[in-house]
Amino acid sequence: MNGKDKLRQKIFAGARVSPAEAARLFSWDILELGEAADLRRRLIHPQNTVGFISDRIINFTNICEAACDFCAFHAGADSLKPYELPRDEILSKVRELSGRGGTQVMLQGGLHPGHTLATYTGLVREIKKRFPHIYLHSFSPSEIAHIAAKSSLPLDSVIAELKKAGLDSVPGAADLLVDRIRAKVSPRKIGKDKWCEVMYALGRHGMRSSATMTYGMGETETEKIEHLRVVREVQDRTAGTAGRGKSGEGIFRAFIPWSFSPNRTKLAGIKPATGTDYLKIVAISRIFLDNIRYIQAGWLTEGLKLAQIALAMGANDMGGVLTEEKVVKATGSGTRAGLSEFIDLIRNAGKIPVLRDSSYKILSRSPGKK
Ligand code: SF4
Repeated sequence: MNGKDKLRQKIFAGARVSPAEAARLFSWDILELGEAADLRRRLIHPQNTVGFISDRIINFTNICEAACDFCAFHAGADSLKPYELPRDEILSKVRELSGRGGTQVMLQGGLHPGHTLATYTGLVREIKKRFPHIYLHSFSPSEIAHIAAKSSLPLDSVIAELKKAGLDSVPGAADLLVDRIRAKVSPRKIGKDKWCEVMYALGRHGMRSSATMTYGMGETETEKIEHLRVVREVQDRTAGTAGRGKSGEGIFRAFIPWSFSPNRTKLAGIKPATGTDYLKIVAISRIFLDNIRYIQAGWLTEGLKLAQIALAMGANDMGGVLTEEKVVKATGSGTRAGLSEFIDLIRNAGKIPVLRDSSYKILSRSPGKK
């Protein structure tokens, strides 16, 4: 048996693959890789369901002292004017979502030089006081580290206060967990080790997260796998920590890869990643991340049609039917979707659409029907 056959056998048996083996998968034929990833998906998630959530991202400020080169959203990138949403406007956006039956809000902003812990806890408290049923999956590891630095507090105190105020979980906006790339494209943002530190601190407080991956910023295939290795290790090391003892799952509920959009950023000369690049990342993530149940198809950045194909190559969730989002939109990407479009798209892929909550519990098996 040659090396490729041995690796195929290992994947089909559900065994863990090493980083070196995962790197070899980039050279596989796309259909062969997709088939292997779909088999791995079925081992972890045998149902043919694809979940989505009714949510809203509220980008409450684009004023950001990190000014990353890969970001078109921050005020210094000249794509959007500097803004800071007034509290009333934020509350009215949450009210609108709640009125439509939405269940989750993602508050995300830049690293505002004037924002301290009190700014964040005040916002969380006010939303939770008026809309206790809305799940706040909000902020990011870099915002948590930023608050800790601005308030001269340890990460644990910041997380404990945010949790006490009503924060439910934190999206794990990871960009690319490779310091060589971070030093080039986001030198003022936290590095890989700090990102992991925030995750371990969240785990100590029994909070859940997700892990993202932004690729296509000049990294090598080995560095792409290095990102996945870090995510898998954090997931392993947080398994069985507070609140997750029974399931044994680690801190991440889901993994969400998306390609970097160079448009309107300081890296506008970089050639954008292709559709095949995206599908390979989805498939390799599914095979390598054997400890994460949900791999999301990133329709917002990749478009609905490519995301639909990803459902046959390892992805098993479509994320949120977002009402509003500004970070990706700032790059000029105009993908939007409504509930009926989501449902049709999932059915058309031969899957069963289900409406879920933030913990991936199914709320409706016939979404869209009254
Ligand atoms: S990616 Fe985040 S931290 Fe970097 S400039 Fe944009 S908003 Fe700021």
